[in-house]
Amino acid sequence: MAKQKKRLESERLKRSLFTRDERLLHAKTWLAKYNGKRNKIANSYRRYFSISWETAFEDLEILNIEINEGYKTNILQQIGKNPSPFKKKNKTSKNKNFPPSAISDKLKSVTRIVPSPVSIITDKVEASIFPEIESSITSERPSFDLQLKTVYILGAGFSKGLGAPLQNEIVREIFEQSLTTMQQHYDNVYARKLKRLANFLENELFIDRNDFSKIVLEDIFTPIDRCIIDNMAFRNISTTKLFDLRQSICALIAMMINYKLMGLSPNYTYADKFAEFLVTIKRNHKNIDSLCIISTNLDIIIDNAIKSQIHDNDGIIDYSCDVFPYYENEHSLSEFLEYDPNKFKIKILKLHGSMNWLKCQRCQRIFITFFEKIAVQEYLLRSNCRYCTRNHSNATRSNVRAALISDLVMPTFLKDLNNTQLKQIWNAAAMELSEAKKIVFMGYSFPFADFELRQLLSRTIRHDAIIEVVLRPSDDPNSSSAGLDREKMK
Ligand SMILES: [Zn+2]
Repeated sequence: MAKQKKRLESERLKRSLFTRDERLLHAKTWLAKYNGKRNKIANSYRRYFSISWETAFEDLEILNIEINEGYKTNILQQIGKNPSPFKKKNKTSKNKNFPPSAISDKLKSVTRIVPSPVSIITDKVEASIFPEIESSITSERPSFDLQLKTVYILGAGFSKGLGAPLQNEIVREIFEQSLTTMQQHYDNVYARKLKRLANFLENELFIDRNDFSKIVLEDIFTPIDRCIIDNMAFRNISTTKLFDLRQSICALIAMMINYKLMGLSPNYTYADKFAEFLVTIKRNHKNIDSLCIISTNLDIIIDNAIKSQIHDNDGIIDYSCDVFPYYENEHSLSEFLEYDPNKFKIKILKLHGSMNWLKCQRCQRIFITFFEKIAVQEYLLRSNCRYCTRNHSNATRSNVRAALISDLVMPTFLKDLNNTQLKQIWNAAAMELSEAKKIVFMGYSFPFADFELRQLLSRTIRHDAIIEVVLRPSDDPNSSSAGLDREKMK
C-alpha cells in the first residue's frame, strides 16, 4: 500500500516537471481517458499535472476544450485574492533528487540549444539536417584531435535522414504500411498483430481510429509495463495476455523498421562518410582510445556503415557485450572470440539493443550478424540457441527457454535495463562518457522517456568536457550565421 502511494507520488512529481509541450502530449491520452464531469475538467487537469489554474486554462484552450467563460473569470478572480493552495505545497526538496532536474547546468544549456523534446521530434530534426553533418565532417576531416577523446551520441534524428522513422512517427508508420506488402514479407504475422494493437487502442484505451497516428509509443507501453510489473490486469486484459500484447507491438515495430529500411540508400550516404571518417582515425591510430559511439537507435545504419569500411578484417566493431556469430560459419565474425592487438576496434554502444542481435534467454549470449535485421526472426523463425541445444539435451524440449529473442528496449517510462548484457553496455557507456573530453550530439533530442540516459549524462560528463550539438543553422537563433552548423559550447 505504502509502496503504491510512493509510486503514485513519484508519477505525480514526474508530471509536475513536464514542460508544456510534454504535458500537451500526455494530455491527449489523459483527455481520452477522462470520464469525470465536464465542468470539473479544468480542475482535474490542473490537479493531475500539478499546475496552476491559469496554466490549466491556457493548456485546455490549446487543446480546444471549451471552458465556460464565466466559470473561468470567477476562478481567476478568486485566485487573484488567494493563490492556489496547490501551488503552496511545493515539493522542492524532493524535486532535487529527481533525475531530470539533476542535469548539470551544462546539459541544461544543451537542452536549451536543442529545442524541447517534442518540438525537435516534430519539426526540427529532419533529413535536411544532415547535409550539414556531411559538410562539417568533410571540412574537418584532417583535424581530429586525438588527445580529445570524443564520444558521439546518436539519436533518432541521425537515422531519420536515411528513412528510419522518428519515435513519434512509429505508430502512424505501423498503421500506414500496405497490408498486402507486409503480407508478402511476413505472411499473416503482421496483419494479426496489427489487428491486436488496433483492438487494444480502440477498446481498452478508447482512442478513435482516426487518432491512432497521434498517439505516442510511451503512452501505449507505459500503462502495459506498469501492469506487467505490478502483476495487475489492465481492464479486461490479464497480465499474461498483456505480455503477449507487448510482444506483438514490439514485433510490429521491428517489422516496420526492417521493411522501411530494406534495401534503402545503396549510395554513399552521410552515414558512410561519417563511418569512413571514424574508421580512418582508428585505423591510423590503433592504440589510442580516441573515440566511441553511443547510439539509442535500434536500426543498424551506423553499424553497417562502419562494417562496410572495415576491409580484410583489419578491424572489429566492439559492442561491449558477449557476442557470438549468428551464422555458425560466419568466419568474418570469429574475431569476436579472440583478442587481436593488430586490429583496430570501434566501440558502438547500443543502449537500447540492436536489430542485428538476438539473445538466448537461457545463457544470455548475444548472436549477431551485419547487414541483416535478424531481430524480426524472433517472430518468424523462432530459432534456438545452438550452444544451449548442444549443452543441454532438454533445452529445446522445454522450448522457449533457449529460444532466441530480440530484446529491444522500447520507449517507455519503465524500461527494464536489468539484463546482464544491457548492464554491461550501460556501464561501458558510463565509463566512456566520464573519460570523454568532447561529446557530440547528433540527432539526439533528449526524449522525455529517455530519462535513464539523461541521468547517465548528468552523472558522468566531465566538468570540462566540450559539448557540441549538430544542428541545422535554423535550430538556434544565436547561431544564425551561414555555415555554422555546429554550435560550439564551452
Ligand atoms: Zn543459449
